[in-house]
Amino acid sequence: MLNCGENENAGHLFFACTYSSYIWRKVLSYCDIFRSPLPWLDEIQWMVEHTRGRELPQKLRKLAFGATIYHIWMERNLRCFRNTFFPPEDIFGKIQGGVVAKLSTIAQDRHYGEREHNLCINWGINTR
Ligand SMILES: [Zn+2]
Repeated sequence: MLNCGENENAGHLFFACTYSSYIWRKVLSYCDIFRSPLPWLDEIQWMVEHTRGRELPQKLRKLAFGATIYHIWMERNLRCFRNTFFPPEDIFGKIQGGVVAKLSTIAQDRHYGEREHNLCINWGINTR
């Protein structure tokens, strides 16, 4: 579906496909998570276990995961129905824009520790 020649299924789209695995690996690294993308169901399980709570790292993971799924799915639809293509960097840019928009207002009212501060720097989220 991303025109890589592989079969269309969720497991391939999220994130076995070279295109989406590049994007997801980059999203993870911006969350200070340095590992390869997992098989789809394992990735969901990992997210369920690592997005509990209201702290910034967990909130960021949840937002970034949702935005990544959304934008890769939108890209898949554009390719299927409009024959329009965006490079993976553009998709990452959309994910980043969405995450920053949602977290900037929250982050302005908080004093973060070094870990949270570094995450804000990664994504370009303004803090005090
Ligand atoms: Zn593919």
